[in-house]
Amino acid sequence: MKFKFWGVRGSIATPGENTVKYGGNTTCIEIRTDNNDLIILDAGTGIHLLGQELLAQLPITAHIFITHTHWDHIQGLPFFSPIFIAGNHLKIYGGLDPVTNEGIERALGVQLQYSYFPIREAELNATIEYNTIKPGETISIGSAKITPILLSHPVLNFGYRIDCDGQSLFFTGDYEPIFNIYQKDDPEYDEYQAFLDEKQNEISAAMKDVDALVIDSSYTAEEYISKKGWGHGSYDSAINHANLANAKKLYLTHHEPTRTDTQLEQIHQELLINNPNLNFEVVLAKEGIDINI
Ligand SMILES: [Zn+2]
Ligand SMILES: [Zn+2]
Repeated sequence: MKFKFWGVRGSIATPGENTVKYGGNTTCIEIRTDNNDLIILDAGTGIHLLGQELLAQLPITAHIFITHTHWDHIQGLPFFSPIFIAGNHLKIYGGLDPVTNEGIERALGVQLQYSYFPIREAELNATIEYNTIKPGETISIGSAKITPILLSHPVLNFGYRIDCDGQSLFFTGDYEPIFNIYQKDDPEYDEYQAFLDEKQNEISAAMKDVDALVIDSSYTAEEYISKKGWGHGSYDSAINHANLANAKKLYLTHHEPTRTDTQLEQIHQELLINNPNLNFEVVLAKEGIDINI
């Protein structure tokens, strides 16, 4: 299995000289099985460039797994050129929104309302198939098995584990590890902590021994203090998860939109200095590089 980041930025696309090295597109990852089956994780603005590259390989069958429907994870979908071309087959997978009780088809349908986009859904000429999937349900695509895991975020949100060709990757999309909302002396604290520990064990088990852990690392420890509850992880929580999961390589992603390339590299250096004895490699996710696991 190999993969490639087409978007590593969180929240909003950030073109410009300060982000040119790691990239300014929002979340999108291309995965290829050894048989060249195409799996795409999230459809942020990065999927636009992927679509341009795929124009040379038509017709395509693409399996697109959406973590959740915040803009930075779906906004590129109407700009994914193969969607307009007959003969292509797009299978889009995602969860059931508990608020609207609608499946992932809503994410594209809403974006294609006439107020937001000039082309109607009926004019998309590719064959589009929507699949509502449940946490823990494994989907097979060629040699790959994809399992969605429920992760905490302000909306329904999946992380995906991909096992394929003897290798594995876990991608969180957006993810803030749950924290205890009670004070230590509150009577509810212990019970809630036991629930959190159980949830953490489930998540660590889902990430267990992965070759590549790609995780939301939006904030420094200092930034996190004022952004607790916003739905994103920190560099420290990323390291903690890689440790708990015994991951082989940690990819820090969902870079803050205001973070420059230089700042990313400074933070990365500090992380390595502050965590000298890690059992895994720590890498900044970067757009446009083929990675063989
Ligand atoms: Zn996001
Ligand atoms: Zn989000």
